[in-house]
Formats: sequence, structure tokens, C-alpha cells
Amino acid sequence: MVAAVAAGAFAAAAAGQTLQATSGGDSPEHRTDITPLANADDASAAMTTGGGAGVGGNTRVGAPVLLQVSENTTDGSVEAKKLTESAELTEARLEREAEERRKAAEEAARPKFVLPAQGVFTSGYGARWGATHYGIDIANSIGTPIVAAADGTVIDAGPASGFGLWVRIQLDDGTIHVYGHMDSFSVYVGQRVKAGEQIAVIGNRGQSTGPHLHFEVHENGQKVDPQAWLAARGVYI
Ligand SMILES: [Zn+2]
Repeated sequence: MVAAVAAGAFAAAAAGQTLQATSGGDSPEHRTDITPLANADDASAAMTTGGGAGVGGNTRVGAPVLLQVSENTTDGSVEAKKLTESAELTEARLEREAEERRKAAEEAARPKFVLPAQGVFTSGYGARWGATHYGIDIANSIGTPIVAAADGTVIDAGPASGFGLWVRIQLDDGTIHVYGHMDSFSVYVGQRVKAGEQIAVIGNRGQSTGPHLHFEVHENGQKVDPQAWLAARGVYI
């Protein structure tokens, strides 16, 4: 489709105005945008629209100039494309929102505290062999997974005196969990871990009389009974 716009280009230029023909056609969204001219006389001669031949004479000063503007698409196809795009955007948004709801439900449902290892509870917190045992021991074969008992940030992962290797994880409330004697660990300092996420495997390193996990809970700088701490959070050994 070809539409011609006749404009008083000379008059507009003389008046310091700009003239823009954005597209042909006469639907509201495609209306030719022309800035107001300096005076009414100019404006009255400034524009006509319609299916003219599209060739303008410029034989005299001040004569209307015809601007040819061609459209590549019809209004119908533009509208159809807009509708399709709108439907696709809505669908994408709904999918995103459903995914967010699913993740939120999953996050709400997952356990926030878990047993750090499966095995035999061999030693509790308290007096033992004339000294104080500041953690609990869970015995199992070397290679048994050790998981984070709660969400937190790894603040130590490496060799430690007595523990052989240890991993320390700080919870968001400041509580620190200590895991000892592991054969190997798979986390790094600064890493965020979630309850139940594997961090190491059971070993027999350090001062250990057999493969087991030694687990401590430090609350406000005090080494507290991990069994009681876990039980208060619904986890029983
Ligand atoms: Zn122990």
C-alpha cells in the first residue's frame, strides 16, 4: 500500500518546524504525526492524505511536496502479531509464577533440621572416661554420607587437631555445627548448604577408635548437647 502525504514542506522548513511521516494509512495508531505549523494558513495547506499518485511536483516555491510512505505490513497482520506476542508473554508469566509457587511450596515443605548421619548412636554428650565429651558420636562404615544438620554457611573445612578433618558450619542465628573425623569432605569455606545436603563421608581420622561422625553444637559460645538441640527441633536419635 502506498499513501501519499502532501505537506507544505517549504513553509514548515521556513517556520523552523519539523515534519515527520511515520507511516501511511489512517488508523489512529498510524496517524501521521506532524508538528503544528507556525500559523493557520500554513496548516491548512500542510497535509492531505489519501491514495494519491505519490508523485509530487515541486515546480514552484511553496508548492506542496508529496512524500511517499510505503507500508510493509497491513494493520491486520500487525494486530495479529501483537495478540500472539501478548498471549505468549502471558503464558510465560503464568509459567514463571507457577514455578515460583512450586519452589516456595517445596522450600516450605523441606525439613530444616535433619540427623547429620545414619548409624549407631555410640556416645552422648557429657562425662566420659574422666573427661567431658562435647558432642555425640554416630558410628557407621567409612564412606557413609554425612549431611548438614541445618542450613548454614561453611566456615571451616580441612585438617584440625584431634578431629583429623573437620567441617564447621555456621547457621544464620550464629549457632555453629562441628563435624569431625570424616574420611573426606566435599564443601568449601563460604559455601551455603541446606539441611540434608551431603558435606562429607564418615571416616576414622584423628583421635577416633573406629569409623564414626563426631558432631558438636556451639550455641552462644557454649558447647551444648547436640541430642537435646536436635530433639528440640524435631530430630531424634
Ligand atoms: Zn565424639
